[in-house]
Amino acid sequence: MTVVRNSWKFSRYLSFDKLTMKSALSLGNVSGIKVSIHWTFLLLIVWIVVQNLREGASAGPILWTLLFVGSIFVCVVLHELGHAFAARQYGIRTRDITLYPIGGVARLESIPRKPKEELVVALAGPLVNLVIAGLLLPLAPVPQLTSQEAEIQIGPNTFLFAFAVVNAWLALFNLVPAFPMDGGRVFRAILSFWMDRPQATRVAATFGQVIAVIFIFLGFYVNPFLVFIGLFIILGAQAEANYASTEALMEGHTVMDLTMHEMPVVKPETTVGEMIREILNTQKKNFVVADDSLVLGVISQMDVIKALGDKGDQLTVRDCMQTDILYLPSGLPVNEAIIKMQSSGKSIALVKEGEAVVGMVDNDNLVEFVLIQRARQHLR
Ligand SMILES: [Zn+2]
Repeated sequence: MTVVRNSWKFSRYLSFDKLTMKSALSLGNVSGIKVSIHWTFLLLIVWIVVQNLREGASAGPILWTLLFVGSIFVCVVLHELGHAFAARQYGIRTRDITLYPIGGVARLESIPRKPKEELVVALAGPLVNLVIAGLLLPLAPVPQLTSQEAEIQIGPNTFLFAFAVVNAWLALFNLVPAFPMDGGRVFRAILSFWMDRPQATRVAATFGQVIAVIFIFLGFYVNPFLVFIGLFIILGAQAEANYASTEALMEGHTVMDLTMHEMPVVKPETTVGEMIREILNTQKKNFVVADDSLVLGVISQMDVIKALGDKGDQLTVRDCMQTDILYLPSGLPVNEAIIKMQSSGKSIALVKEGEAVVGMVDNDNLVEFVLIQRARQHLR
């Protein structure tokens, strides 16, 4: 599964950011991509152990089952890396991969907009599992079920076969044509060859929601797990549709269209105490720090409050401002500006026309701009 990393539109619906940042255990780095495991994963392990104990299993089979679960999640990581490396081919970076009990999520900086590229990135994950299954199936002895057994017990003789089958299942399950599953993106990419992207997204999202309802319905009869997947798909489809419509609203607009030309400017020797009074007295939130006309940095309301908590109100702006400023050319398309701000983790950017700083853009006025465009669209 892939999501747009840190998307301010997406994160309102599924707060992956909050979930992953605070409650995930880092497993390490693969080629610059952080891989972590979410704490809810522990619940899955506990559930498996309890379930096995209740069925009277001894330590041996429980260990085999846990080893099996561990190996499946290695495959999930490989699946996500498939997406990440395919995206890298198109210059899109992946910040991290997080494992949840229901699967993995790779946060890409953006989803490729060209249908062919989206198709390749979406297919790359399931393809990894298909290759694993295809390589292992011919090697694995097919277990014979005795008449008392309803399902295969994981053990040294059945491990390889079950592992190959799970990989095949992972590939097929991810290809279910519903957002946020890979199949949803594959479906949209294919539709995009005939229709524009927002329309393709709407069709794919609606289709996915129908599938989600079927999953939920089946879940009551077959497996309660399907109910969760169904709900997850409904949320994911909605988020994807919103994201695509926002992207479409920004189409044709450049940074200049939302630049704030009146920027609050402060001197580097201003103290944190003075800044606090300014923030409380006015509507100003983000400031440019400049000496005469030389820009030295930017400082946000949050920087000021943090500095107050850390060092007190006598600290000067010079000592707590951000000096690595993000500059955006005024002619840059808004959609690209959003990606730049997200990938650099900046909530403020300065707008340049040639060498001159002509204004400022921050997260608040990006959101404002979206709302304004949406209102305008309603009029049409
Ligand atoms: Zn995937």
